[in-house]
Amino acid sequence: MSDRLLDFTQSPLGKQIAGLIGMPTPPRLRRAKAGYEALPLTDRAVVLAGARNAELSAALVQGLDRMGATIFVSADLPGLPPIKNAAAEARVALKTEAPEAKAVHAFVFDASGIDSVAGLRQLYDFLQPRLAKLAPNGRVLIVSRAAASTDSVGAYTISMALRGFVKSLGKEIGKKGATVNLVEVNSGAEPTIAGALRFFLTEHSAYVDAQILTLNAPAAGVPDSFVLPLAGKTAVVTGAARGIGASIAETLAREGAHVIGVDRPQEEGALGATMSRINGRGLALDVTASDAGDRLLREAGPLDIVIHNAGVTRDKMLRNMPVHWWDQVLDINLGSILRINERLFDGGLNTGARIVCISSIGGISGNAGQTNYGATKAGIIGYVETLASQMAKRGGAINAVAPGFIETQMTAAMPTIPREVGRRLSSLNQGGLPIDIAEAVTFMASPLASGVNGRTLRVCGQNFMGA
Ligand code: NAP
Repeated sequence: MSDRLLDFTQSPLGKQIAGLIGMPTPPRLRRAKAGYEALPLTDRAVVLAGARNAELSAALVQGLDRMGATIFVSADLPGLPPIKNAAAEARVALKTEAPEAKAVHAFVFDASGIDSVAGLRQLYDFLQPRLAKLAPNGRVLIVSRAAASTDSVGAYTISMALRGFVKSLGKEIGKKGATVNLVEVNSGAEPTIAGALRFFLTEHSAYVDAQILTLNAPAAGVPDSFVLPLAGKTAVVTGAARGIGASIAETLAREGAHVIGVDRPQEEGALGATMSRINGRGLALDVTASDAGDRLLREAGPLDIVIHNAGVTRDKMLRNMPVHWWDQVLDINLGSILRINERLFDGGLNTGARIVCISSIGGISGNAGQTNYGATKAGIIGYVETLASQMAKRGGAINAVAPGFIETQMTAAMPTIPREVGRRLSSLNQGGLPIDIAEAVTFMASPLASGVNGRTLRVCGQNFMGA
């Protein structure tokens, strides 16, 4: 369903009228038009700075350089020496930031090493005078040490302070379609920063805003190239006939995966159409069938990527909720995932397999009338947390993506007022598109997310619900 306010305010006449009457104007988000490129930041200015004792400069300098970025630094900031040393070692040329420069694509700040309230001033000194130069659809990325990786009271406190900073800044810069995110790096996770940069600093993350993603040491090696990262992989996507699932199937195929799309037998026509577009294969299967795992294995296994996307809502206040609605939502959205995975764990997954489950911000904030749905989507968050170490032992990972308000048939069926509220109550002032979820899932399913395991990433334009 189209967003009429967005379409109107982005038209030449609409822009003028909106300006005259002070109407909110949702920004037009720039999304990726193709797969991951070798040099996505060619001709784009990235200003890199860090704290005085920053520890992650080498990974940042190399990661940005390998993306083709022109890296600008500023002599007036105290954190320059670690960046200069890292650049000299990696033979990367740095440019001096010119005061007249306009339209910076990204500001990247290495906040590792800050362990005092006074030290946090370095972040202010970097961003405050420069923020006006952030281009529309630009990026701010803060990189820090993960709170859990320190036993210093100061460092732990500051790592939490950074979360509050990012969440507040997101609400300031969203108007121009720009985003800010925080990547927390555990010890040993440094080689995985490069993959995370490719997601967070490019159009693949257009609707990911004010999120915190923690990186762990990778369970397997990190590849040198991130072009066609899923080449040679076999992926299953449930609920792939339409909506978010169809977009996930298309995006995984775009990155080289062979996709088997699963949907209920009554959706076979739509499923066939999606699968033939991407040279994939359709499998008519109800995920709640007791033999669903066996059939998946027989017809598609062993698997490298499994995306549990099929999900339904059956909303009613608990006092009025019929038991079959409770049972149906619990079984489709959560029970079937556990059963299918249990079967796949027994010889159905290749080494290094990655699983992604679709949660929802409804599982984080809760919604009246969604006790069944909220329970399943929160259950998914716990499920991926608890299975992470088991998947790491297999060299793989399990993660979740929690969509906010996404324009699909599910949300088109909502009453008008809650639908409009759902769209606007976010820093980016609009609903997301299925492709936004598909991009995040594809990132999680790929070696770009080598350091990500047991995490849930919200893709919601910083929706104010549960934020
Ligand atoms: P959708 O448009 O309703 O598509 C879901 C697909 O899953 C449909 O093709 C559906 O088939 C299929 N499905 C349902 N039950 C199934 C079963 N038992 N076995 C196999 N396939 C089944 O939904 P969507 O909006 O794309 O949502 C996809 C996922 O994102 C869901 O898990 C949803 O909870 C989650 N999510 C969506 C939003 C949003 O704003 N749209 C927000 C947060 C989370 P039928 O049509 O035959 O049922």
